[in-house]
Amino acid sequence: MAAGQRMRPGRPAWVEVDLTALGANLRLIRADLPAAVRLMHVIKDEAYGAGAIPVARMALTSGVDSFATYTVAEAVALRDAGIEAPILLLGERTALDFDWLCSHRLTPCVGSLEVAAQLEVFAAARDVVLDVHLKINSGMNRYGFSWRAASRWVSQLAEFRHLRLAGALTHFAQSDELDKRFALQQLGRFQEALRVLSDAGLTPGCIHACNSGGFLDLPQAHHDMVRVGILALGVYPSAVCRRIPGLSPVLTVKATITALQELEPGDMVGYGMHFRAESRRRIAVLPIGYGDGYPRVRNEGHALLRGRRVPLVGGVSMDALTVDVTDVPEAALGDEIVLMGRQGEEDITPHELAALKRSVSYDILTNWRARLPRRYLGGAP
Ligand SMILES: *Cc1c(COP(=O)(O)O)cnc(C)c1O
Repeated sequence: MAAGQRMRPGRPAWVEVDLTALGANLRLIRADLPAAVRLMHVIKDEAYGAGAIPVARMALTSGVDSFATYTVAEAVALRDAGIEAPILLLGERTALDFDWLCSHRLTPCVGSLEVAAQLEVFAAARDVVLDVHLKINSGMNRYGFSWRAASRWVSQLAEFRHLRLAGALTHFAQSDELDKRFALQQLGRFQEALRVLSDAGLTPGCIHACNSGGFLDLPQAHHDMVRVGILALGVYPSAVCRRIPGLSPVLTVKATITALQELEPGDMVGYGMHFRAESRRRIAVLPIGYGDGYPRVRNEGHALLRGRRVPLVGGVSMDALTVDVTDVPEAALGDEIVLMGRQGEEDITPHELAALKRSVSYDILTNWRARLPRRYLGGAP
């Protein structure tokens, strides 16, 4: 059985995870980076739905140096699976997390003097020195020490003898749009704060700022490491950022036709009677719905059948959706339909699905629910 799969009942709807494509993408990303720049793979939220453990195993054979997760539980699951590489915890920690940092060798980001002081007390009581990455808020205004007040917090940080500044980072609010003015302003603020740090004799080991968008479009911001998430899945963070030839999508969402209905003119489909057939139509039913993460749309969107686009008709229900297959007369029970990904010459991208719910591709990727089985292709040797 492939990596990460446990025996459980199958389902005629699933997410295919092409680990071979993931490995190839990561090698292309690695090859695009200067040799001195390290590659951190951000695998929070189950590697954006692909499955963190099989993804991490593949990544370690494909040029990745370290990982980032958001929650301690995500990081602990990786450790329990035998992943030894460094793991950075994004976001901000609370006292709930502190014991786990030591027991599982996890590196937190620290973004306030209050949390830094709590960590200092914790580490001093155990007589250990904790590695931390200093998060600098350069304009995102989510986590981090404010760039404006650097001289104030830097002097206090220098007092904490049980925290070692293994790194310093910032995060861009907008790195994947054509307009890079704010990103460049953030970069300037970050570098200013780093100067204040170094003037105070503090030299964080690893400086990093870039997510996928920054990696692609802001080479001047690469510093010592980039933090790449979505791009490893072969999905660009936006339509306008630089392209790397050869990246291919890792995730494909598929289902097989489990029922067919013949409609007469005037017949309806689904809840709320939102689709009425104007002529004789043939409808295929797929056993996947908004309860699996498909956007809850009605009479919008497409799926791929035998290499052709077929329109969704009626509303998406929790466990099923319906497509009009009248124009594909050979459609039959058991036919494989692609809801996200490629089939033949056609492609339904996460961006296309995101437009249906006025959201972003990240939301589409991470929204495929756990009840949709993951089927892995390829895998780490
Ligand atoms: C999620 C995240 C990333 C990765 O972003 P992508 O756009 O998926 O590459 C990098 N850094 C931080 C702080 C993040 O939260």
